[in-house]
Order: sequence, then C-alpha cells, then structure tokens
Amino acid sequence: MGNVFADFLQNSGLYDEIAITQENIQDLISLIAGDVRLDVYCKECGANRIFTMAPLPCFLGAEENTYTAEKLSNVLQQIQNNQATDKAFSLVPRYGTEWVWNTLVTDYYTGVISFQFVCTLHPEHHLDYIVTTRSNKMRKIGQYPSVADLTFPELDVYKKDISSEDRKELRRAIGLYAQGIGVGSYVYLRRVFERIIDKAKDYAIGDQKFNLDNYQKAKMDQRIHMLRGYLPAILTENKGIYGIISKGIHELAEEDCIEYFPIMQEAIFMILRQWKQKREELESTKAIASKIAKIAEKVKE
Ligand SMILES: [Zn+2]
Repeated sequence: MGNVFADFLQNSGLYDEIAITQENIQDLISLIAGDVRLDVYCKECGANRIFTMAPLPCFLGAEENTYTAEKLSNVLQQIQNNQATDKAFSLVPRYGTEWVWNTLVTDYYTGVISFQFVCTLHPEHHLDYIVTTRSNKMRKIGQYPSVADLTFPELDVYKKDISSEDRKELRRAIGLYAQGIGVGSYVYLRRVFERIIDKAKDYAIGDQKFNLDNYQKAKMDQRIHMLRGYLPAILTENKGIYGIISKGIHELAEEDCIEYFPIMQEAIFMILRQWKQKREELESTKAIASKIAKIAEKVKE
C-alpha cells in the first residue's frame, strides 16, 4: 500500500487539495517522520533513484525562552493518542469537539510544511515539495523539480515513436497541467491524442478488413473501436474512455479537464509503450536475421 500523502505530493498539480482525515492521518505522520521513501526520477542523476527525507522537527517552549526539540511526528501522534483517550485533551484543540490533526501547539510547524527529499546516491540532489495546511485540508503550493521536469525524461524514451512536434506539445500539456491549468493543458493533450490515433490508422491500413472510407466518416470514439488490435485493449474495449474522448472541448469545465488529464496522458503513454515494444522487436528480429545471413555466408566459403 502506498502512502496517500506521498502520492499527493508526487502526482497532484499545483494548488490541488487533499483532506486530512482520521483514516489517513497515520500516512501523514509517517511522511513527516521521514519514514517514506520515494522512487522518483532524479533529474541530476538522469535515472530513477530512491529519495529520503529527515524527520521534521518541532520546538516546544517549556518555560520562557527555553525550547526543546521534538520530532513533529511524535507530537502529532500524541495529539491523536490524547484525542482517542481523553475528550478534553490537553494540547488545546482548535476546532471545538471535532476531530483535529494538529492544535495551536503545532500550528506554527504545520501551517507551511516543506518536505525536502534527497537522492540517496547524491544527497546534494534535491526534490522539494511545499504545502500549506488550513484546518483539516492540505494544499500543494510548490514543487521543484516540477512535475513536468520529472515526466519529460519518460518522453525522451519515445523519441523514435512520435514526432518532435508531438513531443513538444506533450511537454507543453504536462507543463500547463503542472501549473494547475486545466482546459489549456487538456486541449494540447487531445491534439496529440488525435494525431496518435491517426498514426495507428496508418498501421491498420495494411489490414484488408480495414475500411478507410468508413474510418474517415467516423467519429473519434468509433475510430478507436475500428482500430482494435492496433491500440491497447484498455482503450478499444473500455466504453468509459469513449465518454471522455467524445466530449467536445467546449463542453468541458476546468475541473473536468484536471480530472481527465492523467487518464488521457496514461492512455497516450500506453500506446507509446506498445509501439516502442513492437519497434524494438522488429529491430532485434532484423539484427538477428542479418547476423544469420553473415554466418551463412561464411559457412558457404
Ligand atoms: Zn540523484
């Protein structure tokens, strides 16, 4: 099981929110305790690395001008324990009798939290996330390297499978999405998706059962269905995705676009992975065939 807050840091766009609840508070506490390891692309190493974080501190005033350093995670855990056993618990709940994850005591340390992860191979390689919390809500307000920086390397892997034009627009789409721009990012993503579907058509044309006339008259959802065998099955067999694809851009609200973006992006990456695999198989078949031909030539001599 993943950690929901680690997933939130890694996958959400800027200004996205997540609720902090009694069900997920232990995930947040273990993240703050530095117990979570992230497996992320390191921009500087140029490869996937494990990233770790030191536990976050908290300084509590015992008497005037004296402070003791504590682990913030321990104090947050104590708040949970006190709340479970004592209704009028001693750490000053802020919001009456409602469940809370922090109190006035920890508020200063939880209002803005910076999660500073470092690459285990090179501690000078950073991956920083910044969030704010207000009552039981967390909002992501910063990240470096950006979501786009971390996704782009995956794109380079498909250099041979899509045009540089498509890669440029995919980068633009992911970059806009990372900044929380819904409609704009989605428009670019849809353009790329439609061109990729069109390229799948070129593969299908060699197939005798494929009717180009019907294809050209068809709507996008029907086209995808006609291309079964040339696209990943999840796309051609799943009616749910047709609903997303067939909606006109003008019908989509900002929030719809934010919601559909990761699904659409994953669909594109799935197609690219399939194409890459096919291309590599073809290339290794050719390489082996030419080696065999050379050996056959030698045997003759
Ligand atoms: Zn690194």
